[in-house]
Amino acid sequence: MRNLFISGNWKMNKNFNEGNNLMNDINQYAETNDTIDIAIFPPNLYLKYFQKNYKNITVGSQNLYFKNSGAFTGEISPSMLKSIGINWTIIGHSERRTIFGETPDIIKKKIDFSLKNDFKLIVCIGENIDQREKSMELDVIKMQIKNIYYKLERKDAQNIILAYEPLWAIGTGKTASPEDADKIHGQIREEIKKIYDEEFSSHLRIIYGGSVKPHNAQQLLSKKNIDGALIGGASLKSDSFLKICDIAGKIME
Ligand code: PEP
Repeated sequence: MRNLFISGNWKMNKNFNEGNNLMNDINQYAETNDTIDIAIFPPNLYLKYFQKNYKNITVGSQNLYFKNSGAFTGEISPSMLKSIGINWTIIGHSERRTIFGETPDIIKKKIDFSLKNDFKLIVCIGENIDQREKSMELDVIKMQIKNIYYKLERKDAQNIILAYEPLWAIGTGKTASPEDADKIHGQIREEIKKIYDEEFSSHLRIIYGGSVKPHNAQQLLSKKNIDGALIGGASLKSDSFLKICDIAGKIME
């Protein structure tokens, strides 16, 4: 059975004290609720403190660069992150792609370099509204999968969690229906099976992202192919985030 993975992407939100209070609540919750995996991706500035002080949850970076040092103003490297105990990162979030111009080539470089540096990754995929309206979602996803896994050895590929995040559902309040999301997750699993094999694809965790809230979490997370969530808005309050964790925990019982 695949353990449910519930993750919060804070994006560029929360000052230090607000974030610290939220982490305290989540860490306390995780101390007595260990049936699910919980990961938080706060602003980089807080990583060192959170990593040191909150041992019950995984703490990771929202992004990194594909070099370990050099003249890359404003960037942060895998080796810097590792030096403060961080070895998880998100790669290819749609905001990185659409606002900061990350191309498939850049995303692939980040994936390969992070894996080479022993990171574990959440890699985001998903179609935009235009592509969905033209029923191109599967083609888009297949291309993204090809790019991600190109020449990746199985031992490295095992360190990836895929997040299916249809762009039209992120921060909009619109969610893919649980049936629709489950179907797409199943298709993703089929694609991965073609690249590796049944055993590999049956262990891969595919999480869903796009306006996951307490009111829709039960239906989404109980689907066979949905192995957790990447949560933006609802991860910014302990109340809503921990409600989702609770729902996931009950499903795992
Ligand atoms: C996200 O940031 O990946 C996300 C899914 O955000 P939200 O939950 O706010 O839609």
